[in-house]
Amino acid sequence: SKCSAGGNFSKGGLRPYGNIELSPASGVLNYGQGLFEGLKAYRKEDGSIVLFRPMENASRMVQGAERMCMPAPTVEQFVEAVKLTVLANKRWVPPVGKGSLYIRPLLIGSGAILGVAPAPEYTFLIYVSPVGNYFKGLLAPINLIVENDFHRATPGGTGGVKTIGNYAAVMKAQSAAKAKGFSDVLYLDAVHNKYLEEASSSNIFLVKGNTISTPSINGTILPGITRKSIIEVARIHGYEVEERLISIDELPEADEVFCTGTAVVVSPVGSITYLGKKISYGGESGGVGIVSKQLYSSLTNLQMGLTEDKLGWTVEL
Ligand code: PMP
Repeated sequence: SKCSAGGNFSKGGLRPYGNIELSPASGVLNYGQGLFEGLKAYRKEDGSIVLFRPMENASRMVQGAERMCMPAPTVEQFVEAVKLTVLANKRWVPPVGKGSLYIRPLLIGSGAILGVAPAPEYTFLIYVSPVGNYFKGLLAPINLIVENDFHRATPGGTGGVKTIGNYAAVMKAQSAAKAKGFSDVLYLDAVHNKYLEEASSSNIFLVKGNTISTPSINGTILPGITRKSIIEVARIHGYEVEERLISIDELPEADEVFCTGTAVVVSPVGSITYLGKKISYGGESGGVGIVSKQLYSSLTNLQMGLTEDKLGWTVEL
């Protein structure tokens, strides 16, 4: 079901970071035909550099492109381009434990198109930036506010893919939450206004006893690569993991709540405010739950090469 022309991604190259030229009539500027990805390169103790599951980002871009009527680079082209970009920017990968190199692949409708239709040409580009920890990891649990008046996605919409417009749509709610002192918004489903979806750029998990639950992938939440990885890691640690509908009413009963994402890794949630009521986790001291701590350590040790990668998730440059 090819719905767009263009898309020869074989003749790219490296160039210094700088502005790009775009037609004022480009599909991306006028109709938001754009997709992005986010992944990280980590430096290991021996100085070598690894990527975390880049093939997953590549295939998520291929799937997203299908939804957005765009051609996409192949998984091989995507991973090769990421490797070349990171190699050219090796000196910007921070030392182990001091952060990572954030990699931003971007696929845009760069061709000019006047009426609403897929652009006739596409551009795939990658830029990188060193980053510290997005939230302060285990040191500072995040505080979420449940949003009733805004939704991130609707059934049949584009919530399940990483298209640029999804992020424009959350800015108003996110800014309001930040102005009130919250770290981020937790969105509910648009049909019942009752089931948990995700935060602005991370997935959510609830812990109760030995069971860990997360909303199932149903087209309105982003299939996070950290989410998928944490599900596997948690099962290896012996937890029961359920992907299902989770009602907002279950929040007060949870022992721990945490969010996952490339930027936030595993961020413990200290509180969730809903209809003016605050539900706190981690006790009065605002401590971090042991499951969140355990999964955070397992994942970050693996990403930084501090434990043996038995799952084959890291790719050496
Ligand atoms: N949900 C949304 C809306 C996101 O933007 C992200 C970040 N890509 C995530 C979840 C987490 O996905 P990942 O673990 O692949 O970074």
